[in-house]
Amino acid sequence: MEVADLEDVRLAFGPVPSRRLGKSLGINNIPIKTCSYSCVYCQVGKTLNMTTERQYFYKPEDIFKEVERKVVESASRDERIDYLTFVPDGEPTLDINLGKEISLLKQIGIRIAVLTNASLIWRDDVREDLLEADFVSLKVDAVSEGLWRRIDRPHKDLKSNTILKGMTEFAKEFKGTIVSETMLIDGINYGDEFEKVADFLKHLKNLDKVYVAIPTRPPTEKWVKPAKEEIINVAFQVFSKELGADRVEYLIGYEGNAFAFTGRVEEDLLSITAVHPMRREAVKEFLKKADADWNVIERLLFEDKLVELAYEGNAYYMRRLPSFKSKEFYSRITRSMNACLEKS
Ligand code: SF4
Repeated sequence: MEVADLEDVRLAFGPVPSRRLGKSLGINNIPIKTCSYSCVYCQVGKTLNMTTERQYFYKPEDIFKEVERKVVESASRDERIDYLTFVPDGEPTLDINLGKEISLLKQIGIRIAVLTNASLIWRDDVREDLLEADFVSLKVDAVSEGLWRRIDRPHKDLKSNTILKGMTEFAKEFKGTIVSETMLIDGINYGDEFEKVADFLKHLKNLDKVYVAIPTRPPTEKWVKPAKEEIINVAFQVFSKELGADRVEYLIGYEGNAFAFTGRVEEDLLSITAVHPMRREAVKEFLKKADADWNVIERLLFEDKLVELAYEGNAYYMRRLPSFKSKEFYSRITRSMNACLEKS
């Protein structure tokens, strides 16, 4: 295959703030939209090139030059970059040059992250490439073959078991930070899937954090909606039981902070409950320390900023999910961003 034409391609973007990665400079090493999956919730659009074949897309030197240019630009604005992150418009490990690109980029001296769907991690060459990174996020939406096929709609040659084995193998060898991400959507009967996912994750060596996510932008399939707060809470509780509550966090569209303490009680509560649910007793304790009373919670519930959930006889509080912005909203933002970039 020919190396893709660079015209109109933004190989690097940002830096953008990210709870997981601090300030992250995005690297787009895959042409839109080349993927081994066609997830129902994909926020990049329909998969146009469904493949499991690793290919040459861009010259590693071009990626390096573009990233280096952005790093210099950010430094001139005194803007910090914590990670150079492969987070393309498709699956980053489909790029046959991924390992080479990571080695080149390491010369810049900033940590490297790769957010992958892990579908090719059973391949030795993919694992070898990923071993070069400092941070790898693995997608684990489901471990049961049927549910995985329904949500992620993988290429027909892929098998769930092979991928799970590949992840286990990779986790044994990797020396950096591994996190997992489980995207939850509405209208799916998860049954005991959360228990199964938790059981798989608990055996992944060196797994640092487990993220419970929801789509926060309009998905490819119109019927897809983010899972409801009740389901997200159940997933959180089940994962916490197996992996410890300190290793499980939400990714629900807010940049929360589990350790927030600014002294502004409402703000702090919303920040914490954007990361994980709080049990009623923990909320009471928090309010006592902040010298505040239960009226704060009543007000947040009334204003629909907080939601109360029941699980195994306990009450939990979670930040209300943000509502989807329309596609028009994002195209307006993109248009105005492009206009700014053209002017600069
Ligand atoms: S793996 Fe990522 S890019 Fe590929 S279809 Fe799923 S969400 Fe979209």
